[in-house]
Amino acid sequence: MKRVVVVGGGLSGLSAARALLDEAQARGVDLGLTLVEKDTTLGGKIRSTREDGFLCEAGPPGFLDNKPATLALARRLGIEERLLRSNDAARKRFVFSDGRLQQLPEDPVSFLLSDLLSIRGRLRIAADFLLPQGDPSEDESVASFVRRRLGQEALDKLIDPMSAGIYAGDPNVMSLKSCFPKVWQIEQQFGGLIKGMLALQQMAKARGQQGPQGAGPGGALWSFEEGAAELPDRLAVSMPEANIVAGAAAAALERAEGGWRVRTDDGGVWDADAVLVATPAYDAGALLGPLDPELADLAFGIPYVPAAVVCLGYRTTDVPHPLDGFGFLIPRAEGRKILGSRWDSSTFARRAPEGSALLTQIVGGARNPELLALADDELLRVVQDEMRVTLGIEARPAYAKVVRWRRAIPQYLVGHGERLRRIEGRVSALGGLFLGGNAYYGIGINDCTTHAAAVAPKVVTALGGGPAPEPPRGGPRL
Ligand SMILES: Cc1cc2nc3c(=O)[nH]c(=O)nc-3n(C[C@H](O)[C@H](O)[C@H](O)COP(=O)(O)OP(=O)(O)OC[C@H]3O[C@@H](n4cnc5c(N)ncnc54)[C@H](O)[C@@H]3O)c2cc1C
Repeated sequence: MKRVVVVGGGLSGLSAARALLDEAQARGVDLGLTLVEKDTTLGGKIRSTREDGFLCEAGPPGFLDNKPATLALARRLGIEERLLRSNDAARKRFVFSDGRLQQLPEDPVSFLLSDLLSIRGRLRIAADFLLPQGDPSEDESVASFVRRRLGQEALDKLIDPMSAGIYAGDPNVMSLKSCFPKVWQIEQQFGGLIKGMLALQQMAKARGQQGPQGAGPGGALWSFEEGAAELPDRLAVSMPEANIVAGAAAAALERAEGGWRVRTDDGGVWDADAVLVATPAYDAGALLGPLDPELADLAFGIPYVPAAVVCLGYRTTDVPHPLDGFGFLIPRAEGRKILGSRWDSSTFARRAPEGSALLTQIVGGARNPELLALADDELLRVVQDEMRVTLGIEARPAYAKVVRWRRAIPQYLVGHGERLRRIEGRVSALGGLFLGGNAYYGIGINDCTTHAAAVAPKVVTALGGGPAPEPPRGGPRL
């Protein structure tokens, strides 16, 4: 029997474990799999809690269907009937700009007609059509790229809030190539963003697809009836043959005869032919330090921003806004204390009791990390004040919950791609060691499940597994 230890029971570790068991079975490898998780509960940043009828998502509320891996995983687990697709209304998104909520235009024509940006700002965006392509070898910051192609106003009013909404990050230091690879590719392939979007639209039309083709994230949001946590929960249940040890942190990773040894802080000793470390980068750095200090430094060099998630439940009669959309983001220049507000009960069914609304606010990020120092009641006061200014809500919430993440989201800074190349080189030199987790190849749920599906065949190959059988006719093998 070959043995693998997966360190970390967040979505990355759990989905990699599932993919490893499937891959080993398909390739005739008898696999003994152990997964160790520091916390007593599995799921990492995915945490869905129902209280008083409100479903508070302390981490991700769901995932987009613009990549196939997570929907494919839900099908693999047989939980399609638990899936919830976001309501059509959630396509509508807002920004709080110039002191008021404004709807984000959904297509280029309505964008040109909207007064979200000044005429000058819109003309500056149109100049993208004439501008030369950037240097492909340069790892440019998001802010520098947007200033160059679309102008300062587009950066301040559109891209800064979007960077906060996805990464809770600062576009001045985020790497365009690593954070928005699709945008970078569009410039490289078509010479500019407008040219690229027009070309993509033509191509989509030729394929019979409707609708605007943007450079943004796109797609519909999906979750499960009882929230995003159904996915890790169900993953764990789907692997009775695996040895899943929760409440035990990997404290040391050592070389052992012909392989590896993982020691956990509860005294456990787990020998393995291969180890997959699927923890946040700072925890991976701590484990890898004694083996390769340079590799550990590279992992420690991936910073995280803190965030507090504040779920608030209101009677709908107390909310003057119709909440007819996904929610809103806020540009830094507005000087507000929340990064934005997500209208969960407008996006998905079953998020709040009848006659109530659930709104989730994110505080902190790269913009206001100091707000995490506030006590819960102070933080709640701050957020309620923001709800008054942005949505006109004067009433106190019927339900409130604060969840803090000291290190919420990894930041892919300029130079991230080069850092990854060095990390990969050093990891492969160790042999039988693999890295996973959202610190490296994408921060979202789809990135975790995509990477899990990609790393499993490599691990099984390292274990000496035979070639994968041909996928059955009529569809890909899961
Ligand atoms: C507030 C917030 C909102 C988000 N919104 C979205 C969204 O809308 N859409 C989206 O796609 N993604 C979103 N994300 C990102 C998404 O949550 C992550 O992509 C995903 O959950 C990361 O999973 P992971 O397993 O890589 O890491 P984690 O969830 O961090 O899991 C890592 C696990 O490793 C464990 N661990 C660490 N050290 C050790 C050790 N030594 N031994 C054993 N175990 C260890 C930890 O306890 C943890 O359980 C959001 C994240 C946050 C915080």
